Amino acid sequence: MPRTLPDLTHKALRRIRPLAFETNASFVERLARAHHLTTTEFLNGLRIYRPKISPAREHDYGPHTPTELYLNVGARACISQYTGIPETHLAHALPCWKEHRDRGSASETRPGGAIRPSDLPAVIGCPHCTVARTGQARPILRYLPHHRLVCTRHRTWALGPHTLHGVPVPHAHALLHQTPEIVLAHNAHLRLTRRWGPDADDAIAQAARLTEHWRRHAPKTEQIWPARARLIGNGEDASMWEALAREAITYPETITLARLLIRQPSTRYHRTQPDQPHPLHEVVARLLNRRWLQNPVHYPQDLSHYIRYAPRHPIDGTAYRHHTKPIGHKADTIELTQLGYQPPRPRVKRHGTRGR
Ligand SMILES: [Zn+2]
Repeated sequence: MPRTLPDLTHKALRRIRPLAFETNASFVERLARAHHLTTTEFLNGLRIYRPKISPAREHDYGPHTPTELYLNVGARACISQYTGIPETHLAHALPCWKEHRDRGSASETRPGGAIRPSDLPAVIGCPHCTVARTGQARPILRYLPHHRLVCTRHRTWALGPHTLHGVPVPHAHALLHQTPEIVLAHNAHLRLTRRWGPDADDAIAQAARLTEHWRRHAPKTEQIWPARARLIGNGEDASMWEALAREAITYPETITLARLLIRQPSTRYHRTQPDQPHPLHEVVARLLNRRWLQNPVHYPQDLSHYIRYAPRHPIDGTAYRHHTKPIGHKADTIELTQLGYQPPRPRVKRHGTRGR
C-alpha cells in the first residue's frame, strides 16, 4: 500500500533544496531520508511507481558504477508539486532532471522512472560546502564540470572514482592547502571559461592530454610534479597521489598551455616528421620552464592529433558557466594500476635470522 506523505511544512524539510549539479538520485534520496524512508518508499508515497532497472544494461552495474534515477514527466511534476520547487528550478540545478526519454505529456504518463548507470561522470562535491549547505556530512554526488572541481574557499579538488586492485580508493578529494599555484591556475581557468566558453574546454582538454603524457614520461630531472604529489599527499605515499591527483598535479601547466593554444592560433601544430624539432617545442619548453621539453623525443608522435584547436569567438560566458555539464560520456572508475601505480609491498618483519 502506498504511504501518503505529509506536506512539506516542517522547517527541516523545507531546507532541502537541490545543490547545483547534484544527481537526481542524490536529491530524491535526501528528500526520502528527511522522512526516514528509502527512496522507493518515498516515491511510493508520492504515487510514483517503482522505477524500472534497465534490464539490458544490468551487466553494467558494478560496485563502483554510479546509477542515476531518471524520472519521467509525470514523476517530475509530482516531486515539483510536493516540494514546491518549480520545475524550471529543478531543471536548472539538476543536470539530468529532464533526461528521461518521455513518451507523452504529464497527464498521459503514469508517474515512474528508470534506474540505469549514469551517462555523465559524477564526483563528490567539496565536503565543507556540503555541510554548510545541507547541515549534514553525508557526501553528495554531483556532475561537476571541469571548471568546478576546485573549491577555492576550502582548497579542495574533487577527484573521480578510483580503484586499486578493484577496491575503491578511500580518497574523494585532494587538498590544495600547500599548492597555491593550483588555486591560482583555477582562477585563470575560470577567466578562460568566461571568455571562450566551450572553446576553453576544448583547449584545456587538449592541453591536459599533453601534460598527462609528459607527466607519465617525464625524465628523472622533472622535480615539480613529484614534489606537488608529495605536498598534496601530505607526505603519504606520493606515488599513489601522483596517479590519484594527476590532473591537479599538472593543472598549472595545463592551464598555461591551454592559454597558449587558445590565444595564438599560429601555434597550431601542423604535421611534421616525428622526432624532428618544431618551433612549438621551443615555445612550450620556455613557457612551462622545462628545458627537457625542447627535445622532440618527449612529444607524442601524433601531436597533430593532440593540438587541433582553432579558436572561434569569445562568448558571453555567463550562461555557459551556469549550464555547462561535465565533458565525457561515461562515469568510469579508473584503476590506479592501469595508470602505472604499483603499490609498495607490505614490509615483512624479519624474524631472527640464523647466525645472528
Ligand atoms: Zn568548499
